[in-house]
Amino acid sequence: MAKISINIATGTIQKEELIVGIDLGTTNSLVAIIHPETKQAIALKDIDNTTLVPSILHFSENRHVTVGSEAKSFLETDPANTIYSVKRLMGKSHNDIRNNQHSLSYKILDDDTERLVKIQVGDTFYSPIELSSCILKELKNRAEHVLKMSVSKCVITVPAYFNDAQRQATRDAGKLAGLEVLRIINEPTAASLAYGIGLSSAETKTIAVYDLGGGTFDVSILKITDGIFDVLSTNGDTYLGGDDFDKVIGHHFVTQLGLTSDELGNDKRIVQTIRLKAEEAKKQLSQDDTYESTILQASVSITRQEFTDLIKPLVDKTISCCEMALKDSQLTKDQIDVVLMVGGSTRTPYVKQIVSEFFGKPVNDSVNPDEVVALGAAIQADILAGNNKDLLLLDITPLSLGIETMGGLMDVLIPRNSKIPGKAVRQYSTQKDGQTGIKVAVYQGERDLVSDNRKLAEFILSGIPAMPAGLPKVDIQFVINADGILQVKATELRSGVVQTIEVKPQYGLSDTEVESMLMDSITHAKSDIQIRALIEATTEAEQMIQLTENFLHKHQQYITEAEKQATRTGIQLLQEAMESADKNRIMSLTEELNKISSPFAERVMDIAVAEALKGKTV
Ligand code: ADP
Ligand code: MG
Repeated sequence: MAKISINIATGTIQKEELIVGIDLGTTNSLVAIIHPETKQAIALKDIDNTTLVPSILHFSENRHVTVGSEAKSFLETDPANTIYSVKRLMGKSHNDIRNNQHSLSYKILDDDTERLVKIQVGDTFYSPIELSSCILKELKNRAEHVLKMSVSKCVITVPAYFNDAQRQATRDAGKLAGLEVLRIINEPTAASLAYGIGLSSAETKTIAVYDLGGGTFDVSILKITDGIFDVLSTNGDTYLGGDDFDKVIGHHFVTQLGLTSDELGNDKRIVQTIRLKAEEAKKQLSQDDTYESTILQASVSITRQEFTDLIKPLVDKTISCCEMALKDSQLTKDQIDVVLMVGGSTRTPYVKQIVSEFFGKPVNDSVNPDEVVALGAAIQADILAGNNKDLLLLDITPLSLGIETMGGLMDVLIPRNSKIPGKAVRQYSTQKDGQTGIKVAVYQGERDLVSDNRKLAEFILSGIPAMPAGLPKVDIQFVINADGILQVKATELRSGVVQTIEVKPQYGLSDTEVESMLMDSITHAKSDIQIRALIEATTEAEQMIQLTENFLHKHQQYITEAEKQATRTGIQLLQEAMESADKNRIMSLTEELNKISSPFAERVMDIAVAEALKGKTV
């Protein structure tokens, strides 16, 4: 299908649209394309001639957002309003990140629930999806500026270990940025494409991709047969990367300068300067044998040997991960054909040396390690655009498939552009005590509210034994067979009750209809995501009120009049906020209510425990 689009900036007609490849990294992000003339993958450069955009956002007092190196300069001087490492929070709930929160300097809402995390800046709450979408929007703008054409389609890379929720969150971020995400691909797959591995069909190769970035390390073992990439195993450490190299050099400089921790604690700018000098030193030591400079008019220096000694324990850790990945893939070192070096930190010569020693062969580092993932994404984009005719394109689902959950929200099980045949399972539970049936309504489409999508089928899983809310475990499984028929199966795991239904998702939908459904999802992305956030906040508030009221009622004899009064006021304010449909206010008042009730909730629990113990000794 030929498409014509008009470039608003130049008023000219564009025959074809470029699909861009995006590496949305924890530390740095960038965009790459296939050059229309040379057919080579290239990373897009900025005005300042750099390709990397630091994945950092800064919010000014009037909530103006800047992204990239400008935002990076606020890391130490305005930490509460400077957000980094958003990628770590994608698709995560509070429970998921409970043990790692301390490592971030901005505020993450600390209610201990299964809900997705929110980041607080001033009095506004942002989801990681919204924040990532700001980065993507910035990348889109920069690309449009350089290419002088509109950019609306892309391929985005994610780590191989990302789960469904994290991939879906990445897709949503793209959508919110006004981008149609044609495909989410694994970073090691992209890297291998950039090295030309997997591009010809009659080829079988086993590769190891060693990716050491700014804050994370992962290694993946892939088997590539006839253009199909199979991830055999992954391993890594999500809290190990080049930033740790900077830290050890920073300590070394602090010792040389004879600074005390008090002096450092009182001056954020010194910390910032030391951090920047440390990174500069590290980069220079990838080329030279020594680094010398001055900080606060005192000289500092470090040799490559000293640096190597300092990072040895860190690099050794990555090798243990490689060992485990190999073990999980059930392969030996000689069965690995190629070792690819990915991520800016693999420029450190010692890293290359140790990895090469471990695998017993020279490593591949000919492609720029901080661009290689984006370059591979651009190659995948070009394949999707149909420019690379020799390559086989697997059948894919044109629209997302999912079911209705609380508040009429769409929960996607199989995202659009997934391979056919394919399969997904997710677990759900009941919302009410004693509920014996669950309605399973199947929808197709990209909008956040099921009412805006296309309903395919509905059935009731009945005969669930009466249990308290949340206790039954209901697995919903979606299986699409090679003919594109979707089978939906619901199973209650405790009782074994099963119900199945079959539908034909494509039935009755023309290409134009699919396209208009996609366009709608982009046009409405912003309002959809706002509605979703409001529904989620309201559901959480309702649960909080319900819990608090039950608690008050059950333990009234232990709670003082003043506490009862404060709680009732808290509930009333929250109910008013819910009526006014103000998401941020609902969220902060839910937190508030939690704060009001937790002291006496704890006290009552102590009493209950004490009484239970007493009961035992009698
Ligand atoms: P991510 O995948 O986490 O977004 P990158 O692949 O962009 O990260 O890697 C960023 C890291 O690479 C940073 O810690 C940076 O300091 C480091 N790095 C960049 N250039 C060099 C170099 N020449 N030598 C050593 N480390 C480098
Ligand atoms: Mg990376």
